[in-house]
Amino acid sequence: MKAEIIAVGTELLLGQIVNTNAQYLSQKLAGLGIDVYFQTVVGDNPVRLRQAIEIGRSRADLLVFTGGLGPTQDDLTKDVLADYLNRGLSLHEPSMSKIEHLFQTRGLHMVESNRRQALSIDGAEPLDNTTGLAVGNGLSADGTLYLLLPGPPKEMKPMMDGAGETWLRTMLTNERPLYSRILKFAGIGESNLEAKLLDLIDGQVDPTLAPYAKEGEVSIRVSTKADTEAEAGRKIDGAVEKIKERVGEYLYAEQDIPIEEAVVQLLRSSRRKLASAESISGGLLAELITSVPGSSGEYLGGVVTYTNFMKHRLLGIPMSQLEGEGAPGAISDSTAALMAERARELSDADFGVSLTGVAGPAEAEGKPVGLVYYGLAERGKKTVVLTMQLSGDRASIRTRAAKAALYRLWLSLRD
Ligand code: ATP
Ligand code: MG
Repeated sequence: MKAEIIAVGTELLLGQIVNTNAQYLSQKLAGLGIDVYFQTVVGDNPVRLRQAIEIGRSRADLLVFTGGLGPTQDDLTKDVLADYLNRGLSLHEPSMSKIEHLFQTRGLHMVESNRRQALSIDGAEPLDNTTGLAVGNGLSADGTLYLLLPGPPKEMKPMMDGAGETWLRTMLTNERPLYSRILKFAGIGESNLEAKLLDLIDGQVDPTLAPYAKEGEVSIRVSTKADTEAEAGRKIDGAVEKIKERVGEYLYAEQDIPIEEAVVQLLRSSRRKLASAESISGGLLAELITSVPGSSGEYLGGVVTYTNFMKHRLLGIPMSQLEGEGAPGAISDSTAALMAERARELSDADFGVSLTGVAGPAEAEGKPVGLVYYGLAERGKKTVVLTMQLSGDRASIRTRAAKAALYRLWLSLRD
């Protein structure tokens, strides 16, 4: 739940008093597991207070007000909120009796404005003020929660800790459960993905979209609140459809699994076997695939042929291909193709994949850092080689190369 604290009072804006209530409430809400995203201060002005409510509603589920519950004409928090929600204000009898009683026992004359402190917004729960006169309010309206507390800290704190907290806890347990689905993308960077979905992310209300990235993989969490799983499913499906229209080609799973698991699943369902030959990634590809439980059914094995000698010795790639005047070199599309083909042939797998490239920090064979060739040899088909230019430091380039290879392999398996 996202909350915003709205402190009401021109004194705060003039710097005459410090907004200690906001600090107190922020700590309190954090303790209740509620995220405070904004603290707002607004003067005792009905137009601007209304604006603050409108903005707050658009970006928070809970608005906590302090101030402006007193008897005077500039105390207008309840009036403005009631008006904004098209609700009336009614006298809360117990609060009214308390005020009358106090004036009687002190022998003071009660003026009409004192009654204002006993007003409660229709439909709200009145919150007892144990150290003052103004009654607080807890209200749930149109999917937003409103908690109205008095300004004086010696009234605000006991109310928040007492009736306010009790009301909030009830509202939290009544809250509709949150459902979410994770979409996993590969072959596209986080910023690129976000750029393509910017208007959807910015305009999101329900369901909400939250992108986050790991090395070589991007996820979007699509979340919504609903009464039933089926209702949530329909809402999430709608949002996912829109996302797919834009970036469906990069979506490899609608659940939180890594790309290597998606690859193993496809190999399994199509009953095909894989082998690998790695240079730049030093076995990272093999490590990723074998981290998937049960992958021995699909992954036959691989070699790390890091030096030219080992590419020659283990894979049988001619030295004339790898080095010397006019040779394509170890970092070349033709070497990537040979590595993939030899890995496939040696193991009699259906697919052989390979990676060769420059991880850096220095260039190699006169080729730039981040240049990576990915080879894919498939039984009975022409070998394919893809050239990639990856960015980042040595560690990221190696990880990205392995992840990108898995994504390319996943694409070939899917089609
Ligand atoms: P009252 O019944 O006293 O009028 P109220 O709920 O209307 O209470 P305000 O009139 O806004 O509240 O503020 C009353 C006093 O409470 C202020 O003069 C100030 O001393 C204190 N106060 C108000 N808001 C805050 C705040 N955000 N942080 C700290 N103190 C505050
Ligand atoms: Mg006041």
